[in-house]
Amino acid sequence: MTGAEHIQQPRKRLFILLLTVAGTLVLGLSFLLWWVPSVGLVNIHPALPVVFGAVLTLLAFAIVGGLSLLVLTLLTGRDLFMLQPLRGMVVRYLFPAIISLGKLIGIDRDMLQQSFIALNNQLVHTRHLRVPAERTLILLPHCIQTFDCAIKITGDVEKCVRCGKCDIHGLLGLAHKFGIEMAVATGGTLARKIIVEKRPKLIVAVACERDLTSGIRDAYPLPVVGILNKRPNGPCFNTHILLPEVEQALKEYVIPALAEQEKPQT
Ligand code: SF4
Repeated sequence: MTGAEHIQQPRKRLFILLLTVAGTLVLGLSFLLWWVPSVGLVNIHPALPVVFGAVLTLLAFAIVGGLSLLVLTLLTGRDLFMLQPLRGMVVRYLFPAIISLGKLIGIDRDMLQQSFIALNNQLVHTRHLRVPAERTLILLPHCIQTFDCAIKITGDVEKCVRCGKCDIHGLLGLAHKFGIEMAVATGGTLARKIIVEKRPKLIVAVACERDLTSGIRDAYPLPVVGILNKRPNGPCFNTHILLPEVEQALKEYVIPALAEQEKPQT
């Protein structure tokens, strides 16, 4: 188990717990939906309660089946989501529904979003992707650049002179090592524009819980590996990144550019 996976375990468990609660609620609600009107439906036609019950049972099992598949995918680490539309339903609708359920029972929003990101990463992990460096993009928030740096790196991160005052220095080193393009976005709109222009097949994104959650959903079906930034100075100001986490993700998913592969192993 990698260090990053170890950190993500408790976050994953929270989401699995919420998925189980959601599944139980669906079954309970389905029963109520069948039971309450069936008392009256029988007055319209004697067969109606049975038909209504059958439709509801099918619907409930489809939803609970989807939830169970998700839990099994997370527990076994295997890609059981062979149907792309099902994966889409999970990322677009089920995750937000689970987040709403968590909020309803008073679970901290950051924790829920961390859980979403950890599970998203697990779902990407189960696909065993290997993407060429040229089709990979490292996407960063502007706040990683130190506040008083006079160089404007949005638009062209290569303008950084690598003075070492912020993590852009180390991240650029990693990007060069793998032969990957790196971009800095000041917000969601610019991030979307960069993705449309560069047309990557995989994004390794660094950001806070909120931006990663919305970014992962916006970018779907594009796989996004989300890495949380560290904020010792408060939100959106001189943030940091654990470089080994980024390097670990790149090693797992990226086929380095040719020049990198040809280098003799040390
Ligand atoms: S490493 Fe130095 S030059 Fe590059 S962005 Fe950070 S502060 Fe600016």
